Amino acid sequence: RRQRDLEQASLAATTRDGHRFEVTANIASLAEAEQAIELGGEGVGLLRSEFLYLERSSAPSQDEQAATYSAIARAMGPERNLVVRTLDVGGDKPLAYVPMEAEANPFLGMRGVRLCLERPQLLREQFRAILASCALARLHIMLPMVSQLSELRLARQILEEEAASIGLSTLPKLGIMIEVPSAALMADVFAPQVDFFSIGTNDLTQYTLAMDRDHPRLASQADSFHPSVLRLISTTVKAAHAHGKWVGVCGAMASEPLAVPLLLGLGVDELSASVPLIPAIKAAIRDVQLSDCEAIARQALTLESAGQVREALLSWRPSSL
Ligand code: PEP
Ligand code: MG
Repeated sequence: RRQRDLEQASLAATTRDGHRFEVTANIASLAEAEQAIELGGEGVGLLRSEFLYLERSSAPSQDEQAATYSAIARAMGPERNLVVRTLDVGGDKPLAYVPMEAEANPFLGMRGVRLCLERPQLLREQFRAILASCALARLHIMLPMVSQLSELRLARQILEEEAASIGLSTLPKLGIMIEVPSAALMADVFAPQVDFFSIGTNDLTQYTLAMDRDHPRLASQADSFHPSVLRLISTTVKAAHAHGKWVGVCGAMASEPLAVPLLLGLGVDELSASVPLIPAIKAAIRDVQLSDCEAIARQALTLESAGQVREALLSWRPSSL
């Protein structure tokens, strides 16, 4: 059984009508990177680098960071993508060694790329540590919580300076998370200035519906299947493709098999799932026709609520089945 599961896992994620999608992993350790490959992960779509920084009393040294990134990059090898997201902490995830003022609204405060740009030394060291793995995998760098063009420009400038300081002539690919509505709405402006987008449906849903993603009483309503979120995904994909850039989804939605027809139909190119769900997501892709997915996605964009979208997906009988 295990042998059969492993064989299934290594199959490509190609729809019945022959469209191949990339299924990668969300990881936060070397162990997860290795597990992802065993389960058929085709790369890493989101390395949450926070694990290197949290629960310690001093910042990780550049060498320590570099050793971890290079071990993960070696596990991926030169044929696979490795998307390293820069530090995404803030008011709700404090660091003992980065003094931060208490904030009334930490989710609307100094978090993600904002915090790193306020403390550029932190970002410089992280870039240097990441750049050391340039030759080991298909390295991508991704900025979290981007809401303004100026943040992308500043971060790119710092990355270019750090690359130049070690004599690196070709920069790794640089992309941004689309997880703030302003970035999704202005995806056509961002697209020419990045190499890729990855949609963070957890935060995108939180900020679009103005519902705390961890609120116990809002859990059923803070649903990424809401048509407002789907419209932002659609806007993002169209803008990216108009400029020849690829779009992934790395929020929890990409780990839900029910969302697969929707996300494929909206045109995303890559799904980055939590490691144990990679085989199920690949199987769900092999089960559908892209043409059917496009029809259900078009319909979903016209519906009124997340509940209606889920119902439509559950009662959907694609012509290919
Ligand atoms: C997201 O917001 O969807 C995401 C992938 O990032 P995180 O869950 O780490 O905030
Ligand atoms: Mg996020």
